[in-house]
Amino acid sequence: MKNNCVFCAIAEGEIPSFKVYEDELVLAYLDINPFTKGHTLVIPKVHTAGLVDTPDETLAAVIARVKKVATHLKDALPCDGFNILQNNGEAAGQTVMHVHFHIVPRYGMEELAFANHKGDMAELKALAERIRMNG
Ligand code: 5GP
Ligand code: ZN
Repeated sequence: MKNNCVFCAIAEGEIPSFKVYEDELVLAYLDINPFTKGHTLVIPKVHTAGLVDTPDETLAAVIARVKKVATHLKDALPCDGFNILQNNGEAAGQTVMHVHFHIVPRYGMEELAFANHKGDMAELKALAERIRMNG
């Protein structure tokens, strides 16, 4: 596996994912154990571990895609709001050392927890098919 990294394997198509958006620089797909319905991860295809070692131009491209995908999710899900989360280092809860942004959709006045829930693969597949973007 390239860079011994699960997100590189997803970017290369070696490991399947429930894709929401893709272009030449960036991939967005559903988190396998979502915090909330529609929880999406946005990654640059080129591997870097975290924010500080990612080039500014890459970050600029990724955050623009985060905005694009989040804007789409607001209507497509729909959701009432969303959190953007980006963890750096084990101490901050980072478990996959490939830089990524979480888009966490929010619904009404639910409790604002950041906790994974075991994903239902059939549900995730159907949801990704419903909300997938065409560029
Ligand atoms: P972190 O805590 O590193 O910021 O977040 C990593 C996220 O990646 C977690 O929410 C976890 O559920 C998700 N994740 C880990 N492995 C996979 C995988 O193979 N596929 C997908 N779609 N998500 C993953
Ligand atoms: Zn990687």
